[in-house]
Amino acid sequence: MSYKLFIPGPVAVSEKTLRAMTQPMIGHRSSDFVALYQSIQPDLQALFYTKDPVYLSTSSAWGMMEAAVRNVIKRKVLNCMNGAFSDKWNDVSLRCGKPAGSIKSEWGQPVDPEAVRRELATGQYDAITIIHNETSCGCMTDIAAVMAVVREFPEVISVVDTVSSFSALPIKKDELGIDIIVTGTQKALALPPGLSLCSVSKRALARAATVTERGYYFDLPEFQANHEKGMTPSTPSIPHIYGLKSKIEDIKAEGVENRYARHARLNQLVRQWGAAKGFKLFPKEGYGSVTLNCFANTLNVDLPALVKTLKSKHGFLIDGGYGKIKGKTFRISNMGDETDETIGALLRALDSALAETPVLP
Ligand SMILES: *Cc1c(COP(=O)(O)O)cnc(C)c1O
Repeated sequence: MSYKLFIPGPVAVSEKTLRAMTQPMIGHRSSDFVALYQSIQPDLQALFYTKDPVYLSTSSAWGMMEAAVRNVIKRKVLNCMNGAFSDKWNDVSLRCGKPAGSIKSEWGQPVDPEAVRRELATGQYDAITIIHNETSCGCMTDIAAVMAVVREFPEVISVVDTVSSFSALPIKKDELGIDIIVTGTQKALALPPGLSLCSVSKRALARAATVTERGYYFDLPEFQANHEKGMTPSTPSIPHIYGLKSKIEDIKAEGVENRYARHARLNQLVRQWGAAKGFKLFPKEGYGSVTLNCFANTLNVDLPALVKTLKSKHGFLIDGGYGKIKGKTFRISNMGDETDETIGALLRALDSALAETPVLP
């Protein structure tokens, strides 16, 4: 059965992207590959607002999130926790054997710059992890405000996850002073899952050079050495790189500012639909994500039934809540290639599905 994804990743992939991914294979040490790799670098750097290289890792985003942890921590990392992915990053730090402290906020609350200042001022930390857009609860942190604080601590290497926000709004890596920025392909870039993009500052590379037991597959100096030759350390998913090149063409054809405006507009359409129905937004007011809406189930509808009806009768899949807020919230993605027409069709289908969904006792 075929249905269209409106879950916050993976998202629907266009026919154009899928076709681009079926081009014939080339050797990953060939001049054709070097040309492909180097041809997309300037556009990727522009999208990240950086002069630093953009590495391509054949892994999901977690690969490079783990890479950051393994490469830059010598003393202790501060993990800012405010949702499922950021909570997990603390667990991953510990699993990598790194001393890790945390700032714990309720899910749906943004990372608090003052709490970051208080904690970093203790002087124990040499790295920090922050998730810009906590997809699990639809909460977007004011990354400029947090980075303004982090920049007060020059010994701290900053690692920012923009997995579900990259390319949907400007996140100016160099201007904000972000050392390591990570994204994945299956969220706002609307490619299939399996590739992660990561841009790393010279400072972070210099730190990595002094850290032991970085391993091989996720070794940042190894990525840098290969990058200088227009290559990746190991055989990459070449179809993804073809798909990425095609997506960059799409972004340039639309215009990046138009792309940002489209995400903001479609996000508001969904938000207004929810408000009109009586669903409250789950994240703190003013911190709702621009790439998805996470609604609290304030009407107490039978969410599994709603999700099921929407899928079986209308061919659309939304998400019935993540982790500990499953059933209490639902999430609708507007990231990727969505348009007024596709979001309009989804909202009409939601109206119809909601009308036949029972309210729980
Ligand atoms: C999806 C997501 C991840 C995990 O990405 P994978 O590609 O599954 O490894 C991490 N962080 C955020 C914010 C995400 O939305």
